[in-house]
Amino acid sequence: MSKRDVPEKHTEGPMSATDLLIAGGGLAGACAAFCLSRDGHAVRLLESASEPATGASGAAAGSVNPFMARRARPAWRRDDALAALRWVAREAGAEETFAQDGVLRPARSAKQAVFFRDTASTHPERTAWLAPETAAERFPAVQSPHGALWIPGGGAANVPALIEALLRAAREHGATIETGVRVTGWDERPGGVTVEAARDGTATTFDAARLLLCVGMGFAAFPALAPLGLRAVKGQTLRLRRPPSLQGERLPPSLSGSGYVVSPPGSDGTLLAGSTYDHDARHLRPTDEGRRYILDRVRRMLPPLEAAEILEAQAGARVSPPGSPLPAVGPLPGGRAKGHASGPASDGRVWVFTALGSRGLLTAPLLARALPAFFDDPARIPDAVRAQAA
Ligand SMILES: Cc1cc2nc3c(=O)[nH]c(=O)nc-3n(C[C@H](O)[C@H](O)[C@H](O)COP(=O)(O)OP(=O)(O)OC[C@H]3O[C@@H](n4cnc5c(N)ncnc54)[C@H](O)[C@@H]3O)c2cc1C
Repeated sequence: MSKRDVPEKHTEGPMSATDLLIAGGGLAGACAAFCLSRDGHAVRLLESASEPATGASGAAAGSVNPFMARRARPAWRRDDALAALRWVAREAGAEETFAQDGVLRPARSAKQAVFFRDTASTHPERTAWLAPETAAERFPAVQSPHGALWIPGGGAANVPALIEALLRAAREHGATIETGVRVTGWDERPGGVTVEAARDGTATTFDAARLLLCVGMGFAAFPALAPLGLRAVKGQTLRLRRPPSLQGERLPPSLSGSGYVVSPPGSDGTLLAGSTYDHDARHLRPTDEGRRYILDRVRRMLPPLEAAEILEAQAGARVSPPGSPLPAVGPLPGGRAKGHASGPASDGRVWVFTALGSRGLLTAPLLARALPAFFDDPARIPDAVRAQAA
């Protein structure tokens, strides 16, 4: 590092003993900032990018699908998750950012149709099997030759708009939201944590009672997060102009079969199409190969999309713990007081709320709503989502 690059040192004013510093202004950070400020915590959120929702949350399609994956098995605590998403949107004054009007899952093969029919018979109160002719009657533009699973409780959310509303509401509850500030480390001390950060090339520190890391792909910069064994899978989405032949056609808010096509609420009739799953990505930029892959997939459900105009391509990383689709929340396991891989042990002031994988909309509001209770008594964190060493 040259002398010119050495950051100047600056210290922010002290914060009260109940203060919470959140690193990361994606879905996790925004939900946490909203729920904790609403609960009376004095919150400061630092986002390294120039605006919030630029990581995975900026690339998310917004599908809210409580029966995901190849066999359409129910998501973890699906009813609570949907209720929590409705609740945060409503309480943040942004009900319009979540349209709970259903997910259609056309079966990709006769074999998948067997799984979907099984789900429909096991969960008749939450799903319905649509035979090919019924699916075609309800959604004539959608190709469903093997039939489709209808999930009325699912839908679509406008992720950037929801995050913006959550952060606005958090500010109204007294939170401070700062962009362009990167958390670079921390130092636990009796009664609190000194958070190290960089703003415009100037090193600065913040004192807080607790640090909550909601940094998504930013985990790679912190050796102290290595014990979580987090994995990242790059994904790309496309914003498409609705082709003229689909104007006026009835589409479900979320269509998920061969890829997915989402009509996020308030998006002026544009569609979000996804996605790629790249386990060995060298960068997080969209690629032409990804564009071709997505269009090739989604045209099988909606043929006019083959020639749809691409308005924007976005990419991000889905972060997950090894072998689990569920997030990680709680005190950093095996934490070190200084955020390095070794050194004195942490006393639990540094928490993570991360690894939302590919279903952040079903987990971030649910867990953020419970964070105040988890802070009071970490034993209340369900084992299924407790941050643990891999
Ligand atoms: C292509 C794609 C499509 C997806 N589609 C869906 C979908 O349809 N439905 C769904 O539910 N989920 C979807 N997901 C998953 C969803 O996007 C994620 O689960 C969720 O957005 C993750 O939110 P996050 O806040 O944990 O991470 P991020 O959104 O990545 O936010 C992390 C933030 O932390 C900031 N940051 C990083 N390091 C630091 C630091 N040191 N200091 C300060 N700030 C820092 C970053 O700039 C970023 O803004 C999709 C993901 C991808 C990639």
